[in-house]
Amino acid sequence: MTGKEPVCPACLGNHAQPILSVSAQEAALHFVSPRFDAERNDRILSRIRSLWGSDQCRILECQNCGFGFSWPFVAGDAAFYNLTGSDAVYPKVKWEFSRTVEALALRDTSDARILEVGAGNGFFLDRVSPRLIRQENVTAVEYNERSITTLKRKGYEALTLDIRDKPFDGRGSSFDFIFMFQVIEHLDRIDELFERVRFLLKPGGSAFCAVPNVKRIAYQESHGSLLDMPPNHIGRWTPQAFREVSSRLGLRVAATEVEPLDWMEFFKHDISYSHIRRTQIAPAGALAKIRSWPRGRRRRLAEAAAAALGIPARLSSWADAWKDRKIMGGSLWIQLDRI
Ligand SMILES: [Zn+2]
Repeated sequence: MTGKEPVCPACLGNHAQPILSVSAQEAALHFVSPRFDAERNDRILSRIRSLWGSDQCRILECQNCGFGFSWPFVAGDAAFYNLTGSDAVYPKVKWEFSRTVEALALRDTSDARILEVGAGNGFFLDRVSPRLIRQENVTAVEYNERSITTLKRKGYEALTLDIRDKPFDGRGSSFDFIFMFQVIEHLDRIDELFERVRFLLKPGGSAFCAVPNVKRIAYQESHGSLLDMPPNHIGRWTPQAFREVSSRLGLRVAATEVEPLDWMEFFKHDISYSHIRRTQIAPAGALAKIRSWPRGRRRRLAEAAAAALGIPARLSSWADAWKDRKIMGGSLWIQLDRI
């Protein structure tokens, strides 16, 4: 697969520049350090090698639409997420939730049917149902089995499926609104995905999506913070990349918006991500040792102290973030309409 000439999955152009290259070992270390859990690190490593079909993955940026993509462009599979995602936490509050509720308030939702892809524990759905949408009109798709139980208890139809799977073949023009928050950046088979979204939407329906903001990713990677690592995140979406895919597949980008920078969120993540990054860069060092301790109060306090000691070294990065504050919010929000 790596032998093939890279093609941009968003616009199908073939002019892409390398951003960075990572080895399977670096990627495995990013997800679980061998000092914390050697066996799990090893299983992740072999899973990544088999997904990539090699020891190396490149991240490229399309010169036409700005889409950043891993090459090979291969998403993590269930085995990969079972190994890496067992401690997933779903934030209750996200800017894209509020932004989408605002957009829905302008629409007629009285009889609307909705679908959320990657619904987690249903925190977004709880914002709109039953207030705007009846519970029996809500379908949630989620991989995490524990979340499925929670979603069902709340009265939603909850399915452990990919919307591209067969059971969705019979559900054309079924949904007024589809939601995909922090999902698309994980996925390959982009054309099938957007084709499916169009197919599932009623005419005049809309899909609301949020992805990580590429400007924030670029800041992190150029300022000693965490890398946006494949095969977890494999696509770095720009408004133009959404326009390219949409125009090819019968959708239209109706709105795009970058989240206003939330400084509290920014500092919290910057301090913790740059600390974790330091443990990755020096996996034999003292910081990495602390991070390899079993989870609990002792590790939490030691890591907080270590992260706090790293703050003075972050000041010049924060000055750069301040200069770019208008474009540095965490998420890019997109509304796609079926045409
Ligand atoms: Zn492109």
